[in-house]
Amino acid sequence: EYISINDLLSHILDRFDMMVQSGALRDKNYQIVRDFTKRTLWVDVDQDKITQVIDNIMNNALKYSPEGGTITCRLMETHNSVVMSITDEGMGIPRKDLSHIFERFYRVDRARARSMGGTGLGLAISKEVLLLHGGRIWATSLENKGSTFFISLPYVSFEEEEWS
Ligand code: ATP
Ligand code: MG
Repeated sequence: EYISINDLLSHILDRFDMMVQSGALRDKNYQIVRDFTKRTLWVDVDQDKITQVIDNIMNNALKYSPEGGTITCRLMETHNSVVMSITDEGMGIPRKDLSHIFERFYRVDRARARSMGGTGLGLAISKEVLLLHGGRIWATSLENKGSTFFISLPYVSFEEEEWS
């Protein structure tokens, strides 16, 4: 279905804002900052599946930011795609692990994984969902500084119709 990714992302972040404000995330002090393009970006996606992907990345950003901090969500466009990014100020991901985190059951160091809970499937599922949409998911990270997860989706342009 065709949806505005601006609206979908706003809606999801509203829900996370509510979780933070209600204290559902214990005492960690998070701030969620939005930096969206003003242009409405249309995508042709399975809304539930893309919601699941964004939920997982947001949950990771919260889960792997032991001190809280700012989570910045950006929405931008290139000439043929929509790009979302979610940046946290958490523990980061060592360089040697970065290329593996999208594999099934891969988790960065066992000690960390055991204390954090989870299955190590979230990002593998997210990658599959993006591939099915003709999109991409990738990450950059610096240890003890934080991580940024990027999602790109093909951009549906309605400009031609506007001109006819
Ligand atoms: P779940 O299946 O519940 O999502 P998970 O969070 O361990 O479990 P993934 O979401 O697939 O699994 O993430 C894989 C691994 O990548 C994590 O175990 C964690 O080590 C690392 N990771 C993911 N996101 C971040 C992040 N924002 N900061 C630091 N490490 C991360
Ligand atoms: Mg996860």
